[in-house]
Amino acid sequence: MRVAVVSDIHANLHALGAVLDDVAANEPDEIWCLGDVVGYGANPNECCEHIRERAGLVLAGNHDLGVLGKLDLAEFSDDAAAAARWTRTVLAGEHLPWLASLQPSSKRTTVELFHGSPRDPVWDYVLSDDVALESFALTSAPLVLVGHSHVALALGTGGRGVVGGLAPSGTELALGEHRLLLNPGSVGQPRDGNPDAAWLLVDFDTDRAVFRRVVYDVEGAQAAIRAAGLPDVLAERLARGL
Ligand code: ZN
Repeated sequence: MRVAVVSDIHANLHALGAVLDDVAANEPDEIWCLGDVVGYGANPNECCEHIRERAGLVLAGNHDLGVLGKLDLAEFSDDAAAAARWTRTVLAGEHLPWLASLQPSSKRTTVELFHGSPRDPVWDYVLSDDVALESFALTSAPLVLVGHSHVALALGTGGRGVVGGLAPSGTELALGEHRLLLNPGSVGQPRDGNPDAAWLLVDFDTDRAVFRRVVYDVEGAQAAIRAAGLPDVLAERLARGL
């Protein structure tokens, strides 16, 4: 089975469209989404439609839960809270029960999946060796997938600490040599200094994983954010990938 892993779409339809084209060209058997379909961007309804229609597994992210009112927006930054409140006003009612049905973690035969981390699947970021080690200790699957940080990462453990780090475009690794913890990076708001939309292809037939980046219409996404009256920084940061 070949799986396209996407995460942190954040209502960026321009980025999601470009990623789904690249995904389709790679003909995966399934799409898995690690959460945050909405929040920050200007097209939450279209992004919910695409993911509901195509993804075989979808996790809830903290922004999805914030929009639903399941998390207190006081926990969010001012710009994120403003975007969550705006999203509530425009999100079509049909998407609410679907978002409300999602959980922040899940499991497949050889994979454990979390929006944040195994320590806290909603809020925790895996961005340090210590958190990665704890995350490996709290799981047993050969492969752990996380999102939330918007930074593409490939970490492994062979019993002597953590190896690996940032996973730039084209990074390819073998599954099965070590236990792995992978973050595909973000479709709709990358924060690793590369503005291109990120996704991850995991091929369980050949035991390979490949990190991919896709150029998309950043100016279109920025114009949509500004037209919606969302905070300008949410548009501006897309060009910097931060
Ligand atoms: Zn996110």
